[in-house]
Amino acid sequence: MKVSELLKKDTVTISAEMFPPKQGALLDKYKDIAVQMASLRPAYLSCTYGATGGTSDYTVDIADTINQAGIPAIAHLTCASSTREKVHEVITQLQERKIENILALRGDIPEHADFPLPNQFHHASELIAEIKSRGDFCIGGACYPEGHPESRNQNEDLDFLKEKVDAGCDYLTTQMFFDNHIYYNFMYKALKKGIDVPVVAGIMPVTNASQIKRIVSLSGNLVPAKFLTIVDRFGDHPEAMKQAGIAYATEQIIDLIANGVNHVHIYAMNKPEIVEAIMNNLSYIYVRE
Ligand code: FAD
Repeated sequence: MKVSELLKKDTVTISAEMFPPKQGALLDKYKDIAVQMASLRPAYLSCTYGATGGTSDYTVDIADTINQAGIPAIAHLTCASSTREKVHEVITQLQERKIENILALRGDIPEHADFPLPNQFHHASELIAEIKSRGDFCIGGACYPEGHPESRNQNEDLDFLKEKVDAGCDYLTTQMFFDNHIYYNFMYKALKKGIDVPVVAGIMPVTNASQIKRIVSLSGNLVPAKFLTIVDRFGDHPEAMKQAGIAYATEQIIDLIANGVNHVHIYAMNKPEIVEAIMNNLSYIYVRE
């Protein structure tokens, strides 16, 4: 099923993201994680592609496993580390495995790489246009409520985002944010630019203290004082930190839904138990089909 069809409905969707293994030997274990995630009946599940130094080899396999488990799968696809030929190869594999949803991304530019080479796509918008020309996919794109770290300012970032949507994005998913006002302000500005596709709110439950340092250094996210207080108080107590991180993410999601944001994507970091805990907290708010 195309995710765009789910996002058109006037009902709440809770979805989640996982990442593939780095080594083939772990593929079965990661397929089990995909099946466990699917058993929680999220609206859909996505699988990353070569994110933060990881691999891209098994994204199609994991997405296929998710589909086989009866949940719509999104396969992420990046282009910064690939040639056009490699991208075409993956699109063909996705078609063959009947994976209809692609989250199309540029990806981070590898350090010390000459980018872009002539046989590479420069921006996600080019990749999106290419995917659109090659088949009947539902295509998503990424957006950055706090601005993409490379962009000069948010206004310019939004202009490029509009280009990306016009290239064929059916929906967008946000980078994580820890203060919902950042999302609300972003939506106001995006709508003013004419960006009117569904924008799924990306929520990262931070369940251990080291995660937060990594997140801030990677994405430059603003972390509210309220959250830092939680890390200060519970950071050295893993179980307490996990409980507090789940509660914080739950509170963010409830506030989003209460304010009319129906679609939330959980950056689940391959932890089905965290998705389950959040879903249990929302059992009357997100009614699973
Ligand atoms: P783009 O949309 O191409 O934008 C990148 C930068 O270029 C921005 O600053 C933008 O303003 C600028 N830009 C865009 N178009 C133009 C133009 N025409 N001219 C000049 N500048 C332009 N990474 C992975 O490696 N694997 C994943 O699976 C993955 N999944 C992600 C999922 C989500 C929901 C998000 C939010 C991010 C994900 N990332 C992933 C990270 C992402 O790849 C990086 O943030 C990357 O640096 C940008 O990718 P993009 O698709 O947003 O790029």
